[in-house]
Amino acid sequence: MSDQRRNLYFFYQQTEELNDKLESLFQLARDNDFQVVEDSNKANIIIAVGGDGTFLQAVRKTGFRQDCLYVGIRAGNEAGLYCDFDIDNHDEMIDAMKNSEIEVRRFPLIETTINNESTFSSLNECSVRSTLIKSIVVDVYIDDLHFETFRGDGLIIATPTGSTAYNKSINGAVVDPKLPCFQISELASLNNNRYRTLGSSFILSGERTLKLTVRQDGNDHPIIGMDNEAFSIRNIHDVTIKLSENVIKTVKLKNNTYWDRVKRTFL
Ligand code: NAP
Ligand code: MN
Repeated sequence: MSDQRRNLYFFYQQTEELNDKLESLFQLARDNDFQVVEDSNKANIIIAVGGDGTFLQAVRKTGFRQDCLYVGIRAGNEAGLYCDFDIDNHDEMIDAMKNSEIEVRRFPLIETTINNESTFSSLNECSVRSTLIKSIVVDVYIDDLHFETFRGDGLIIATPTGSTAYNKSINGAVVDPKLPCFQISELASLNNNRYRTLGSSFILSGERTLKLTVRQDGNDHPIIGMDNEAFSIRNIHDVTIKLSENVIKTVKLKNNTYWDRVKRTFL
């Protein structure tokens, strides 16, 4: 890695077992002329130690930094779609630290604007779900086209790397992160002579905009989730989602393509 990128910030949940393992990791970093910093603002490399949930939090809590490289280290036997390294495999890490021509991978993000006011990024997905036992009604627009009226539990809008998370549990497709796009999947849609939706997931090009307007019919307080955080505003009228111009940069190891990781995790 180049000389400008030598400040490491570690993001993790403190446990006794992890503290011990991390101490030897910090030493390894220092031995290789890296600095471990306490303030994430001073870091060029942000290292999440845990599972995918920890990686999502590390990215979110440090503000989706564009001038940083993010690295995921598996702490236990988690699957780790975002985790390239294993905490016990020091050789791999030394190799990456010493290799100046390391490849950088760019993961697409989506941007969600709520009520035309506030905009938030997500690395996995944005979910719009009913908070009540009643279903919610959402008008779905693709650019200016009124596409469908959804009635059911909610909709999940996933990035390519988020496609293996919530999106996959509801039968969405797994999408190659080299494709700049986002996928919309349904949570238990009502389909009958009165309510009709596409019924399958669909994938939009990064040039399109998805707009969801929530019908104000009494159950108009959906909960909006962005990765593993809930958005707390109660009065949600519309939600606009598009691909972000920003990306998350991670280190790419040899023989560890996205599809290697999908295979390792699921097959
Ligand atoms: P969680 O409820 O503990 O996570 C659920 C599982 O999803 C964990 O095993 C987590 O892995 C895994 N995961 C997270 N991102 C993934 C990805 N991109 N590809 C494959 N697996 C992934 O909550 P969390 O750990 O904070 O993760 C938040 C994510 O959970 C949300 O972004 C959403 O995608 C997902 N989720 C899924 C469902 C569902 O499938 N029914 C419901 C709610 C949320 P680790 O164990 O390594 O953390
Ligand atoms: Mn988790």
